[in-house]
Amino acid sequence: MNSAVQSVRPALSVVIPCFNEARGLAELHARLAKVLHPGFGDIEIIFVNDGSTDDTRDVIESLAQSDDRIGRIDLSRNFGKEAALSAGMDHARGDAVIFMDADLQDPPECIPAMVGAWRDGYDVVAMKRVARTADSLLRRSLASFFYSTLSSLSDVQIPVDVGDFRLLSRRALDAVKALPERNRYTKGLFAWVGFRTIEVDYARPGRHTGTSKWPLLKLIKLAVDGITSFSIAPLRLASITGLAIALFSLAYGSFILLRTLLLGDSVAGFPSLFIMIAFLGGAQLMAIGLLGEYVGRLLVESKQRPIYLVDEARLPIIHTNLISRSSDAVRRHSAKA
Ligand code: UDP
Ligand code: MG
Repeated sequence: MNSAVQSVRPALSVVIPCFNEARGLAELHARLAKVLHPGFGDIEIIFVNDGSTDDTRDVIESLAQSDDRIGRIDLSRNFGKEAALSAGMDHARGDAVIFMDADLQDPPECIPAMVGAWRDGYDVVAMKRVARTADSLLRRSLASFFYSTLSSLSDVQIPVDVGDFRLLSRRALDAVKALPERNRYTKGLFAWVGFRTIEVDYARPGRHTGTSKWPLLKLIKLAVDGITSFSIAPLRLASITGLAIALFSLAYGSFILLRTLLLGDSVAGFPSLFIMIAFLGGAQLMAIGLLGEYVGRLLVESKQRPIYLVDEARLPIIHTNLISRSSDAVRRHSAKA
């Protein structure tokens, strides 16, 4: 590529949500620095400190002293990974934005391939884990059960074994940012916006330091979030089950009525009565609970609260002139050159 093309190379943002990750950040930065070479154009690395209680903030700050591509966004408290990602999206200025975990489970060494695919014209480069050996068997089977349930229920195809580790082009990112919902199940939102998407395989290693911040309960919450924000199939299931039970009761009722009329049978059905009442009560409660999940979501949306609050944001200075804030069209052009 010639130098004219070089000068229109767009900036790349790397967004990293961090919650109590102080111990691993230096290693992460070292490995990032190795792969983020100037050939990618201007680069910013945005660490979103999601209300960490350890010294994550100071570690980011000292990294920023040594590397002027580093930016830091401190949220006012712990809002959760999805919110931290939203904060990163809103602050990232790159023409392509990469989201990755801070714990080195998303290897920085994948970045050149991601940028390569983007330069080939893909808007979304989704990294697909081929080996989840690092996670326990229970976790893996739960995850695969959840993903397959979700994709069979959901109206949009949410890819299996693809997490938040991905690259988005500016226009795909703007589309995701334009989605107003507060319940941000990012994997679903990323899939919902569409655009030219490619999946790239990678082996997901274990956590570098610390432990996962996703205890089982939180994972279940994420699963419920994912399903309820992308599908109303459970509601439909509730009504279908209700209908089936009603039809069955009607048939069974007619049968008993006929039997009583023809054989003059006396009261003997206490157990069946009890079972019916208990079963119906349970089914109704479950359906109401389900309805509640959706109503609750409406409540959260209707409050229009911000997804996150920023305590302090320091973004690196981008040195490039205006021309490098190139559009996707320019990008395609430079990719061909
Ligand atoms: N994370 C965050 N806020 C949270 C929980 C997690 O920003 O409330 C970040 C965390 O620092 C990491 C990423 O989200 O960079 C993924 O978290 P973790 O490794 O705990 O999840 P797992 O890999 O087990 O799914
Ligand atoms: Mg992890």
